[in-house]
Amino acid sequence: MFDRGIEIKTPAQIESMRQAGLIVGTTLEMLRHSVHAGMTTAELDVIAHDHIRSQGGTSNFLGYGAHGSSGAGGFPGVICTSVNDEIVHGIPGTRTLVDGDIVSIDCGAIVDGWHGDAAITVAVGNVAAEVRELMRVTEEALWQGIAAAGLKGHVSDISHAVETSIDEAGDYGIVEGYTGHGIGSAMHQPPNVPNVGRAGRGPKLIKGLVLAVEPMVTLGAPENRTLDDGWTAVTADGSWAAHYEHTFTITDGGAWVLTALDGGRERLVSLGVPYGGP
Ligand code: MG
Ligand code: MG
Repeated sequence: MFDRGIEIKTPAQIESMRQAGLIVGTTLEMLRHSVHAGMTTAELDVIAHDHIRSQGGTSNFLGYGAHGSSGAGGFPGVICTSVNDEIVHGIPGTRTLVDGDIVSIDCGAIVDGWHGDAAITVAVGNVAAEVRELMRVTEEALWQGIAAAGLKGHVSDISHAVETSIDEAGDYGIVEGYTGHGIGSAMHQPPNVPNVGRAGRGPKLIKGLVLAVEPMVTLGAPENRTLDDGWTAVTADGSWAAHYEHTFTITDGGAWVLTALDGGRERLVSLGVPYGGP
């Protein structure tokens, strides 16, 4: 059911999204433990593809954005692998990861027509302290955004919490050209969930709404450009970037993070907000 362009899910549909989210979550955990210096990003893509299929899911990334009956131009991977100064939408391929790199892995899956979408940044071996801190700050901003979401609030409450969390952590760039989004029977739906903004704006947060929140943070300036491959977004100044994402919904009890293996319970409780999952 759509209400002013925003898809409102039934409990049964959210349960399907939980199944998709668990496939995404377990795939990302498998990839986190697989990452090592000397492997290519294409090897990560194979691991993800095999796992999603083995769990009964299908990929929503593979072929994304294709146009026409030929399917030309669609995204060629099951995951996005964005290394170092690459922010998002990196294409898995022959690039070999080396000690000290970071790789942001974005993954999605579909179960019964319902989508999940999440991302993590993973350190390859020994990573510089300031880069580890960048990763921590980005993941913290994601959770602060989710923790700020409550029924009767507004979408930009999330945006404001993400921005404030990053600003208070230090001098970082917040990428604004890409945003979080509604998600459900398609991966990208209204409303957009920006990573900056004043609280109290945008659509109301209501039961049945499912959102993906995904801060992208850089060690330098936030400006970016797209490589000639038509997909990979990189920082304009060459600074490194991190990206974390979860898909979540809001119940009477609080937030339920559909792509977190524990539903987000541990992290939300540690932030002092209620956990809304089963
Ligand atoms: Mg994603
Ligand atoms: Mg997304």
